[in-house]
Amino acid sequence: MKRIAVLGSTGSIGCQTLEVIDSLGPEYRVAALTAGSNDSLLAEQIRQFKPEMAALSDTEAADRLRDNIKPYKCFIESGQEGHLTAATWPTADLIVMAQVGFSGFEPLVAALQHGKMIALANKESLVIGGEILMRQGLLDRESILPVDSEHSAIWQCLGALTSDSINRIYLTASGGPFFGKTREELEKVTPAMALKHPNWQMGNKITIDSATMMNKGLEVIEARWLFNLSLDQIEVIIHRQSIIHSMVEYIDGSILAQLGPPDMKLPIQYALTYPERRKSDFERYDPFGRILEFDRPDRDNFPCLELAFSAARTGGTMPAVLNGSNEAAVAAFIEGKISFTSIPLVIETVMRDHDVIIEPEVEDAVHADSWSRVRAAEVIDELTGRVS
Ligand code: MG
Repeated sequence: MKRIAVLGSTGSIGCQTLEVIDSLGPEYRVAALTAGSNDSLLAEQIRQFKPEMAALSDTEAADRLRDNIKPYKCFIESGQEGHLTAATWPTADLIVMAQVGFSGFEPLVAALQHGKMIALANKESLVIGGEILMRQGLLDRESILPVDSEHSAIWQCLGALTSDSINRIYLTASGGPFFGKTREELEKVTPAMALKHPNWQMGNKITIDSATMMNKGLEVIEARWLFNLSLDQIEVIIHRQSIIHSMVEYIDGSILAQLGPPDMKLPIQYALTYPERRKSDFERYDPFGRILEFDRPDRDNFPCLELAFSAARTGGTMPAVLNGSNEAAVAAFIEGKISFTSIPLVIETVMRDHDVIIEPEVEDAVHADSWSRVRAAEVIDELTGRVS
C-alpha cells in the first residue's frame, strides 16, 4: 500500500494525479489533499478519496469546507500551516507537489527536512531553493522524483546511471504558440492568444510561461539541481511536436530519448509507481510515417530564457527574484495591465535592481521573493503610467 499526499489537488496536475491514483486501484490511497480556495472541488475529492486530512489556503473557504464534509472524518486546516501539515503528514509515503509557483517552496523544504519522498511537479520551488537545499544536503536523486515531463524523460533515460555519465542533456521545448513570430507580432499578443497552447493542456500560469519560454528557463534551473549538472551541460532544443520529452547524451556519445504523446499522466504514473512500471491505457505513440524535427531557440525574441540562465549563473537569491518577478509580470499580463513583450522587461529591471545575497538561507529566499513582487509592482506601474 502506498499512501499519497497531493498538494495542489484542484489544479491541472493535481486532478490528473487523482485520476491516475484512482486508475491504479486499492493499493494506492490518498492520505492528504491541499488546495488554494476551491472548496467545492476539494469537497468532491474528499468524498471520493477519503483522505485523513485536507487544507485550503483560504480561511473562509476552509470554513465552508468543514461544514460541507461533516459526515467524513477528515481533519481540515487552513493557511500555509495546512500545506506544511500535509507536506509532512505522518502516514504519507509520497508527497506530490503540484502547487503553482512560490507556494510550493516552504512545503518542499519541510517535506525534505522530514525525510519524505517527493514527486515534484512544482518546478518553481527548486528554482527558488535548489541551491539552499543542495548546500543543506537535502537534494538527492532518491528523494525527489520528477513529474515535469522533460525531467521525467531524463530520469527515465538515466535509469541506474549517475550524473557522472552524462555529457549533456537536451531539454526539449515545444516553442509555445508563438514560435517563429517576429518582435512586431509578439507585441500584439493578447492573453487569450497566449493561453492557447498548441500541444499541452495546462494551467494558466505555466501556459503563459511556455509562451514566453520562461517555462524552459525555469526547467533549466530545475534540471541543474535534480541531476547535479553545470549550466553548460544543459542544451535547450525546440521540438514542435512534443513527442520526445528530452534526451540525454552520455560521455561515450550515445544519446537516449524518451518518447510519448504529450500527456502528463504518464510522468505522473511513473513517479507514483516507481521503481515499477504499470500497465496503462494512455494513448500510444505510433512512429510510422512521422518525422521528428528540432530547431534552435530564438533567444532574441524570447529573452526570458536568457534571463533564467543569467539568474542561474548569478545564483544566491537571484533565481528567487527571477521567479517572483515573473509570477508578478505574468499575473499583470493576464489581467491586461502589461503587454506580452513587457513581461521580460519587468523581470530584467527587477533583477538589475536586486542586491544578491550569496549562500542564502530559506528566510533570505522568502524575503527575496516578497521584495521582487513589490519591486515588480512598481515597475509595472511605471510601465502603465500609474506612477504616483
Ligand atoms: Mg515541462
